[in-house]
Amino acid sequence: MDKIQPNRMDRGFQKYQAEFEAKALEVLRSGWYILGKEVSAFEEEFAAYVGSKHCVGVANGLDALWMAFRVLGIGPGDEVLVQGNTYIASVMGITMNGATPVFIEPDEYYQIDVTKLEEHITDKTKAILVVHLYGHNAKMDEVVALCKKYNLRLVEDCAQSHGSMYQGQMSGTFGDIGCFSFYPSKNLGAFGDAGAITTNDPQIAQDFRVLRNYGSEKRYYNKIVGTNSRLDELQAGLLRVRLQYMDELTRERQELAARYTAEIRNDKLILPMERPDTVNVWHQYVIRCKERDALIAHLESLGIGTIIHYPIPPHLAEAYQYLGHEKGAYPITEKYANEVLSIPMYNGMTTEEQDRVIQALNNF
Ligand SMILES: *Cc1c(COP(=O)(O)O)cnc(C)c1O
Repeated sequence: MDKIQPNRMDRGFQKYQAEFEAKALEVLRSGWYILGKEVSAFEEEFAAYVGSKHCVGVANGLDALWMAFRVLGIGPGDEVLVQGNTYIASVMGITMNGATPVFIEPDEYYQIDVTKLEEHITDKTKAILVVHLYGHNAKMDEVVALCKKYNLRLVEDCAQSHGSMYQGQMSGTFGDIGCFSFYPSKNLGAFGDAGAITTNDPQIAQDFRVLRNYGSEKRYYNKIVGTNSRLDELQAGLLRVRLQYMDELTRERQELAARYTAEIRNDKLILPMERPDTVNVWHQYVIRCKERDALIAHLESLGIGTIIHYPIPPHLAEAYQYLGHEKGAYPITEKYANEVLSIPMYNGMTTEEQDRVIQALNNF
């Protein structure tokens, strides 16, 4: 029997193969490869999809994040609240600017615990970075209210949450800047690196356009020391193809998740819950198990691959030893790091594949 991979990006390609190939040829034959009509069209279409006034394409999700804090003027001496159980790129977006991440424990939905935010706000706090982890949603009304109360900036890491909604509003529209990654494995994936930001503030959008292109608004006239973080025409064109099908792709993930939730029955496993009044887009289906190593081995023996998102929380990463956090400092974050497991979840997953995964989990 074929091994079931945790993710199958080839299936996502095959779904709309003819359209992807036609678009790739169209761009290759156009003679224009960087910042052209595909990028502009994608920016407009993605802004409309998210429900944001502006979108600016960038080279990847990490660039979207670090450029966000740069544009907001957040740097050395400033603190940014961020959940402890995130992908390290969220934290690098803060520290690349010289600012300090202040880790907040997650709630039972694996999102930033809003009841623990206020006690960590100091004179140095300048922003909250909310990460909509696994395609779920933080309790955004409370985050927004706290940002208003303390005059903080709000940045959303939407690298895993394309299309997710809290109280009918899409992630990426709640704060000053929404940061998206279109890394191939994401819900809206490109065929290489790609990213974007969304914002309702025209000045922020313009600042990103300047920063991503060597600090230049007018060719060879450089206002600031910028960077090269441009989205290319090929990726933008291919993203436009996939964006047309986002609702269908999201529905497919929701159906896969609903079936897992209905049919996985094992007291050793904790299944993910959905916060009321949210639409989750299931970037990952993350279960928890105290005997995780044994579970991984059991699934592996049956030809089922899994991944851990993420085994080492950023505060314990070697890269962040300089922040001086001890093991045990964030018990919930660390508990999750020791217990979480992402089971296969991808567009194009067959019923037979899902049957095998469910059966294997129920027999553990
Ligand atoms: C993927 C990811 C990123 C980084 O995106 P890249 O495009 O790989 O740079 C940032 N944050 C989260 C939560 C992610 O999952």
